[in-house]
Amino acid sequence: MSAACCPPPGPNGNDRASANAPIYRRILWAALAINFAMFGVEIAAGIGARSVSLLADSLDFLGDAANYGVSLFVLGMALQWRARASLLKGATMAAFGLWILFVTARHALSGTVPDAPVMGVVGMVALLANCAVAALLYRFREGDSNMASVWICTRNDVIGNLAVMLAALGVFGTGIGWPDFAVGAIMAALALYGAWQIVRHAMAELRQTATHVHAPAE
Ligand SMILES: [Zn+2]
Repeated sequence: MSAACCPPPGPNGNDRASANAPIYRRILWAALAINFAMFGVEIAAGIGARSVSLLADSLDFLGDAANYGVSLFVLGMALQWRARASLLKGATMAAFGLWILFVTARHALSGTVPDAPVMGVVGMVALLANCAVAALLYRFREGDSNMASVWICTRNDVIGNLAVMLAALGVFGTGIGWPDFAVGAIMAALALYGAWQIVRHAMAELRQTATHVHAPAE
């Protein structure tokens, strides 16, 4: 659920992953494609079904897709480029988070009732997608901390998907939109907080590289 919950295991310092580098990259591509596709699916379904919890859940897929993208394209580059990529990721997620809060307020004011069956089905598809990605990456995680990180990351993603399904159930049972507004607002706020942390960290890294660039040695 948090913006940076799913950092992929790096091939460096992981013997099995570096031994299988082409396979590892193909799996990162698959994880990137699944996460990016699910981001699109949840945004489209969220707009179509007028569900802000679906919109908010899509932010995790966007953040995870960005992480896999960074692993594929930017990880080997200089710190400055990695920091710029993080800054772009954080700013994009912050913009989406603010937009979702705005949509939530608008739906709350106009008393929108989202399409509960669509929310439930898409939440379930999202849960399956997260489990599929976890299964793909599982064999590239070694050591206790890596095992813990795949578990924590998948658990957080699944909590988000379950929250959407729970909101769907609430909307279905009550016939009002408030379960969706509440879940959507909490998830968007958590994503905004995560985005803020990413931006702050990236800015600190950029300041650090800026002082290096101006040092006479370089
Ligand atoms: Zn995630």
